[in-house]
Amino acid sequence: MQIGVSYFGNRILKHIKSDMKDLKQKGFTFVLHTYSEFDLMFRKGTMNDIIKATQDIGLKVECNPWGVGNVFGGEPFSQFVNLNYSDSCQVLDDGNIVPIACPNSPKFNDFMNRWVDSVLESGADRIFWDEPHFHEQGFLASVPNRWGCRCKYCKSKFEEEFNKPMPLDETDDVKLFKKNSMIHFLEKLSNRVVGGDVRVTLYLNPNLPAEKISREWNKYCEIESVDTIATGPYWQWEKKSVESVADYSKALFELALKHKKKSQIWIQGFKITDGKEGEITEAINYAINVGIENIAVWGYEGAAQESWVACDNPKLAWEVIVKSICNSHPRN
Ligand SMILES: [Zn+2]
Repeated sequence: MQIGVSYFGNRILKHIKSDMKDLKQKGFTFVLHTYSEFDLMFRKGTMNDIIKATQDIGLKVECNPWGVGNVFGGEPFSQFVNLNYSDSCQVLDDGNIVPIACPNSPKFNDFMNRWVDSVLESGADRIFWDEPHFHEQGFLASVPNRWGCRCKYCKSKFEEEFNKPMPLDETDDVKLFKKNSMIHFLEKLSNRVVGGDVRVTLYLNPNLPAEKISREWNKYCEIESVDTIATGPYWQWEKKSVESVADYSKALFELALKHKKKSQIWIQGFKITDGKEGEITEAINYAINVGIENIAVWGYEGAAQESWVACDNPKLAWEVIVKSICNSHPRN
C-alpha cells in the first residue's frame, strides 16, 4: 500500500524536516510537494532542498504544477497569464479573454517545458498532472455560461484537423478537439519527463457521473508515458454521499487495469464538516475495498494552514486520517 499526502503552505526547511519525519513515522510513503509558478521563479533552490530533505527521510516525492497557468488545479496566482494575457490566454465564445493559459499556445508549452526541467533537476520521483483543463465551470477564473477556447492557435488547429472553421457553439467536434488538444499537450510534457527514473501520474477531475468514466477517460489512458491514473471523489466538497467514493474508485480501478496502469485515489482531507470526520474512514475503506493500493489525502493536517480549505476541526480530521490509513494497512 502506498500512502501519500499533499504538503503546502510552508517553505521553511527546519519545519519541513520535522513534519516529514513525523509523516514517515506515521507510516506515509510519499509526499506531494506543490510546485507553483512562485516556486519556479523565486524558490528553485529552496524546492531542491525541500525535495532532497524529504527523500533523505525516506519518503518519495511527487510534484504538481500547482495552479500553473490556471490550466492546472490549485489556488496560487499565475504570473504567466498576467505577462502573456493577450497572446497566450484562452478566448471565450463571446470574444473575451480569460486569465487561463491555452494548452495550444506555443509560449505556454515552452513555459511548461521549463517547469518540467526544473522539477526534473530537483530529483523528484514523480510528476503529477493535477486537474488539467480548458476553461471549465467550477474552476478558478472561469466565467459562467461561456466556453473556451477560440484563440488564434485553437481556431487554426481546429480548421487544420476538421477542414472547416471552428463553430461558435461548443459542438461535439469542438469537445473532441479540446480533449485531443489536452491529451497532445500532456503527452508531449510526459514524454519529456520519462526516460530516467521519474514517473508520471495524471489526475482527472471527477466532475462527471462515475458510470461515464470508462468512456470519457479512455483516451487519456492511451498516453504511454503516464503510468498512473488518479482522481479524487471529494464527496463533501461535491455535496455527494460518502458511498459515491466506492463508485468512483471502482470505475477508476477498472479503467486503469484495462490499460495496464496503476490507479490512485485521493481522499478529501480538507473542508471536512464538523462532526462528519468519521466519513473519512468510510471513504478510505471504500477505495481500499475495490482494490486501490495507492491512497493519498489532500492535505497535511486537515489543510489547517489554509483557511479557505481547512477542515472545521483539522486536528480531529487528521487524527482520523492517520488512524484510518496509516495504522491499519500494510505498506510497501
Ligand atoms: Zn486556445
